[in-house]
Amino acid sequence: MDTVILKGKDVSSSIKKELSSQISSLKLKGIIPCLAAIIVGDNPASKLYVSSKAKTFKKMDCDSEIFTLNSNVDEKDLLSLIDTINNDIKFHGILIQLPLPKHLNEQKILERIKPEKDVDGFHPKNQGYLMQGNPSFIPCTPYGCLKILEYYNIDTNGKNIVVIGRSNIVGKPIASLLSQNTKYGNGTVTLCHSRTKNLSDFTQKADIIVAAVGIPNLIKKDMIKHGAHIIDVGINRIDDANKEKGYRVVGDVDFDNVLDKVSSITPVPGGVGVMTVTMLLSNTVKAAFNQNK
Ligand code: NAD
Repeated sequence: MDTVILKGKDVSSSIKKELSSQISSLKLKGIIPCLAAIIVGDNPASKLYVSSKAKTFKKMDCDSEIFTLNSNVDEKDLLSLIDTINNDIKFHGILIQLPLPKHLNEQKILERIKPEKDVDGFHPKNQGYLMQGNPSFIPCTPYGCLKILEYYNIDTNGKNIVVIGRSNIVGKPIASLLSQNTKYGNGTVTLCHSRTKNLSDFTQKADIIVAAVGIPNLIKKDMIKHGAHIIDVGINRIDDANKEKGYRVVGDVDFDNVLDKVSSITPVPGGVGVMTVTMLLSNTVKAAFNQNK
């Protein structure tokens, strides 16, 4: 089968072209889209994610500022920082890098961000709008998945779509978006999760699978039907003595194993991950427009 590799970089480049002209038009009005990124603690993966986001913003002539807080920061100090950024017109978007240390109430903290600056789309108000089919900020990873489907013209209308994983940041929003009455919706969506019995019974019937689980190479050839489209959201490190770092990154789908059976598939890395940063930029540009109407 001639399998199409769904390259996040290609989709991202086309979106960045559009964003570039929007950023220039904001610049003419003296506005530079600016993101405030808050990291709590010194988790190396979190630091890497945030610095790569900052690099993307810089390359696109946008600003970002990283606020790094001690891992034992008082919740009230973090909330007070969010209030300060909420009220500073320089910042159009706020991102809190997750996960947060256990002593912090994640829900309370995410709810403190002004919904107009919630470019990650995690605020309950924005998640509510999304559920109602009237999204304001779509969470970046689900948004990136939709953009991949759109760019590669993968029809979702009336298709059997299986989403695996029910997190608030990926599984639930993508399942909702794909079932709505929109161009890249109208799918018949089944949401599978850790308590799903016989996952294969569902995945084998799927025209499109979105895997957002966090288990390396969980989905194998015998679990999918011929010609399925695969969006692999998973980012998992597995040991690999042949790599300089001692590990490599794989998705939730066994890429090599399924490759000759699928119509299309996102690689890991190089698929959805690239899109997440691009959609964060897109949401921040949108926030800058909205705040300067
Ligand atoms: P999560 O841990 O919050 O959720 C995982 C979900 O998988 C849960 O809802 C759980 O019910 C389900 N699950 C667990 N075991 C299962 C099983 N055996 N069968 C079926 N379902 C099962 O994770 P998350 O934050 O949604 O992230 C999922 C994956 O996506 C992770 O690998 C994460 O690193 C990755 N991720 C990637 C991006 C990106 O930019 N590409 C962004 C966010 C998350």
